[in-house]
Amino acid sequence: MDKFEIDRIRDHVIAPAKHIINGERVDAADRGTMDVISPVDGRKLTTIPKGTEQDAKSAIMSARAAFDDGRWSGLSPAARKQVMLNWAELIEAQAQELAVLGVRDNGTEIGMAHKAEPLSAVGTLRYFAEAIDKIYGEIAPTAPGALGLIHKQPVGVVGAIVPWNFPLMIGSWKLGPALAAGCTVVMKPAETASLTLVRLGELALEAGIPPGVLNVVTGEGAVVGAAIAESEDVDVLVFTGSGNTGRKLMEASARSNLKRVYLELGGKSPNIVFADVPDLDEAAKVSAAGIFRNSGQVCVAGSRLLVQKDIHNAFVEKLVAQAEAMRVGDPLDPKTNAGAINSERQLAQNLAFVEEARRAGRNIATGGMRVLQETGGTYMAPTIVTGVDASDRIVREEVFGPVLTVQSFETEDEAVSLANDSDFGLAAGVWTSDLSRAHRMIARIRAGVVHVNTYGGADVTVPLGGVKQSGNGHDKSLHAFDKYLDLKTAWIKL
Ligand code: NAD
Repeated sequence: MDKFEIDRIRDHVIAPAKHIINGERVDAADRGTMDVISPVDGRKLTTIPKGTEQDAKSAIMSARAAFDDGRWSGLSPAARKQVMLNWAELIEAQAQELAVLGVRDNGTEIGMAHKAEPLSAVGTLRYFAEAIDKIYGEIAPTAPGALGLIHKQPVGVVGAIVPWNFPLMIGSWKLGPALAAGCTVVMKPAETASLTLVRLGELALEAGIPPGVLNVVTGEGAVVGAAIAESEDVDVLVFTGSGNTGRKLMEASARSNLKRVYLELGGKSPNIVFADVPDLDEAAKVSAAGIFRNSGQVCVAGSRLLVQKDIHNAFVEKLVAQAEAMRVGDPLDPKTNAGAINSERQLAQNLAFVEEARRAGRNIATGGMRVLQETGGTYMAPTIVTGVDASDRIVREEVFGPVLTVQSFETEDEAVSLANDSDFGLAAGVWTSDLSRAHRMIARIRAGVVHVNTYGGADVTVPLGGVKQSGNGHDKSLHAFDKYLDLKTAWIKL
């Protein structure tokens, strides 16, 4: 993004945000607000409504009414598609403003945020909008005398709860297929990254998405999120966030109406470098980006490096050089390639992991400390920890920050066993020149995505979802529709 344009808008005053409920911009029922603190400099940006249980209920009722009267699902597919395309166009026209707003709110470096947030949301919404009139039902291969029709129908009201690292990207992964399928939605953004999703909701109204079809309610997870999860009127809950919250959502579903719950949770993804890696320098560069971009606040981050013994020292040396060359700092400077940590709380958690490793005698090869404290913002140096043990907390738990652990292995079997020795199964990377080995690794590693000779960057055409405690269900690709479309059989005697 253009530096001149960023500088022009980076200090714009941001009006207090409002919920979007039933097509109206409204305050919390009790007029409560929460301060939005920018991780860029620790200063207050604006406020968001501190949503109440009543606010969540109003939004759910409006989504319920909008679904039940068919004001959205009853439109022709072509009409729904056109409205969603209009929406994508409005977002694209405001991509720069949205990118800067999002960065001020959550701290992601602007170069990444511009592409990964508004522009990726535009691409995702267009992808699902274009699919609306290409989804067909089926005719079953029945015996003569009967006709079995399989209809695909929208499931109803969707509750969508999303995290703070990529609110527009992840938000649109839910909104695209849900709205394209004809569902209505209540969206709950994260406390520390609500502003761009509220704006997306406003643009949806401008684009012609009818009132009540997309509601956005801000506030605390334990209040607004919990009310959505407990609701009898929400048919499907789609979530991206931590495993702890995911557990609570499943419990809430069990206590209430057994709504379907789809979870996209954390990861502790192995990035495996074999000695026959095609290009060691390229692997070091991409692996460093795969953990340190957005300061490691990426669900698929390659946070566990497994490197074959023969090249361990050479590779770590290159990685340390890459880490130390990263520009950490002002996320609104286009030259920055690792922005702010989202909050003081998250930064403290990251540092606690490193401190524990240090006390256990592990080697902090680089980083390990807070930096740029004088800015008032929350920044951390890219950190590499070597000499770790597979049982260390820093190897087993998701840090969700710029922290990479390094383990070494000798054989392919050992690499597989270390890679799979995790409660998580979201992503993995394999670097090798041996095509057969690459395929063996793809088959043996338990993860939702295996990158080969690269790390990250998969686009909207392929699914993303985890196995084990990384979740269930998939975002992106046409498979994402499975969560939002019900199959209904019509059995007709002929
Ligand atoms: P989080 O679970 O704390 O919060 C996520 C969302 O849940 C927020 O909107 C929050 O307000 C809400 N929430 C919190 N408590 C709740 C409750 N009791 N009931 C209902 N809602 C509640 O997670 P986070 O810290 O915002 O996000 C980081 C996590 O998200 C990491 O674990 C990361 O790996 C994961 N993540 C996963 C993916 C993926 O696609 N698998 C993508 C991005 C992030």
